[in-house]
Amino acid sequence: MFIEVDHNLQPLNTLAVPARAEYFCAAHSEAELLEALEWARQRKMSLQVLGGGSNLVLASQLPGLTLHMAIQGKVLLEETAESVLLKVSAGENWHQLVVWCLARGYYGLENLALIPGTVGAAPVQNIGAYGVEISRVVEAVETLGRSDGAPLLLSNRDCEFSYRDSVFKQRLRNQQVITSVVLRLSRQARPEISYPALRDALTDDITPQSIFNTVCRIRREKLPDPACIPNCGSFFKNPIVPLPLHDALHKSYPDMPSYSADLASQPEPMRKLAAAWLIDRAGWKGREYNGVRVHDQQALVITNPNRLSAQVVMELAREIQNSVQDRFGVALELEPDIWGFAGIG
Ligand code: FAD
Ligand code: NAP
Repeated sequence: MFIEVDHNLQPLNTLAVPARAEYFCAAHSEAELLEALEWARQRKMSLQVLGGGSNLVLASQLPGLTLHMAIQGKVLLEETAESVLLKVSAGENWHQLVVWCLARGYYGLENLALIPGTVGAAPVQNIGAYGVEISRVVEAVETLGRSDGAPLLLSNRDCEFSYRDSVFKQRLRNQQVITSVVLRLSRQARPEISYPALRDALTDDITPQSIFNTVCRIRREKLPDPACIPNCGSFFKNPIVPLPLHDALHKSYPDMPSYSADLASQPEPMRKLAAAWLIDRAGWKGREYNGVRVHDQQALVITNPNRLSAQVVMELAREIQNSVQDRFGVALELEPDIWGFAGIG
């Protein structure tokens, strides 16, 4: 394992902010990962785990060790007429996994096509799109403790998945490195087309392949490709608010979209609002701010065409949060993980 000093992270984050890691290494095997954890532990050094860098905002200087997860591999643990149990290493590319599974008739991931990043990061925010979340197919998650390298096996329940959230963002935040994810996929096609934008866009027969094709097509039409226009996807989560606040807003803005919020753990009734609509109505959609932009097709996405620093991106995010709070009384929570900014993330 090779530890580099002062490593350039600009090509390793899709928002393309200039950033440098004090120390950097890539782990290609569990042995290398254990070695890296031990190296950081001996030096009492902070450690951050980097996947594909597609859900991150990085400060310009990152102290400690930045560990890039690059472990590859897929193992078929079990196969029946109904389903397969597949163990996938954390460094595998998520979209390539979706393509690989579809080609073999392992179904359940089609709606999650074209989400950038790695398999290991997918459970962290319980990736979701077009009516499906990864929590639906996760059987277990394997991790190593960041401080001691101890292995841990978490069941689906242990992961405490909820909307864009999991135990890895809460109780176990920054404590575990995910080494592999075990997925239960169906061998029978069970199309999930309840999401209106997907259902309306489907033109062919409804099959896993046509869902995959349609999701890819509508994502390419609407979302900026980070390879051309740097971005880190949705910058804010859709807020889930108490019903009385929703009702008051709906009275003032009858055209405001909202959705049921399936939160079994929540004692009071809640509604999910569309953050993109709130940002648009607050006047931000398509706007430029000191060289960064709110995307003109999707107001949830901040783009960084000039590859400016995270400082200016965060300033824009704060301006948006303040104006949505002032106008609607709704707090917008950041979705990406923020590294190296005091008091945030
Ligand atoms: P990174 O950005 O590298 O890391 C994200 C977080 O996960 C960090 O906290 C990091 O420390 C942690 N992490 C990464 N790997 C590990 C590991 N092995 N063990 C422990 N922690 C780890 N998200 C959605 O949910 N739905 C979407 O539809 C979606 N669309 C997107 C579209 C675009 C254009 C972009 C740029 C992003 C989109 N995202 C979406 C966000 C992002 O792609 C996902 O959150 C993705 O899972 C992040 O993967 P990553 O490997 O890039 O993680
Ligand atoms: P969209 O279809 O224009 O919808 C806007 C928002 O409304 C979405 O955030 C979505 O919530 C919500 N929504 C729409 N219909 C819904 C329904 N029937 N039930 C519950 N919520 C509903 O969104 P889009 O921007 O084109 O994105 C399409 C999908 O890709 C969405 O699922 C979105 O989450 C996902 N996506 C995520 C990211 C990211 O970085 N996290 C980036 C791009 C796209 P949900 O977000 O809960 O689905």
